[in-house]
Amino acid sequence: MNRSWETPGIAGISGHLDVLHMTHLWRMRAGFDFAVSELHKLNLKSSHRIYLALRYGIPQWVPMATRVLLRLSFDDLNAEDLNHLGYNVFEKIAKGKESVLQIRRSLAFYPPYPKVDDAPHCTHQERCKKTWFEVWGKEIFRLIHHPSNYLPLSSILITLKSVKHDGMHKTCKSFVISWMEESCPGLQKEERAICQTVSSIQDMARIHMLVD
Ligand SMILES: [Zn+2]
Repeated sequence: MNRSWETPGIAGISGHLDVLHMTHLWRMRAGFDFAVSELHKLNLKSSHRIYLALRYGIPQWVPMATRVLLRLSFDDLNAEDLNHLGYNVFEKIAKGKESVLQIRRSLAFYPPYPKVDDAPHCTHQERCKKTWFEVWGKEIFRLIHHPSNYLPLSSILITLKSVKHDGMHKTCKSFVISWMEESCPGLQKEERAICQTVSSIQDMARIHMLVD
């Protein structure tokens, strides 16, 4: 990076925003990269970051900001946030949120369980299954539906391994967990929906990227 941009006159968010704007306009790569790296360290709201990412072609700012917005309640967005996002991004965030919500609801409501025919020999198969469903209803359902600090679906397996399943055979529990690892599509669906939203917003940000 060109350190000559570290002049004492440029400070704070507004100074760096001015540099970002001018260097993008005049296609001055070193100064632009400097402003991007300085602004990256500062605390900007996610909606503002997305706005800047799209206006000045900074796709690397999109993933984190999009993930924050997907978890935020729309009630927390003010008029300025909506203005920064614009209709196109807001629509992508709204659709992404809806699809994440549907995936979470569906997995929470229908506890995954393999066909009993494939299970290891167990004389208490029904009891094992009942325990699994009860623990899912009591523990996992609540974690998935936590109003603010909810569990990412991709972390469910780790949680299931540590949660107690009293009344379920260890071999049956291991069998169900390895079945989930191999063939439970719900676990990765949430992350895929998030990545799709991120990449569609990143595509919009690439339009104005500086080309050397
Ligand atoms: Zn069993």
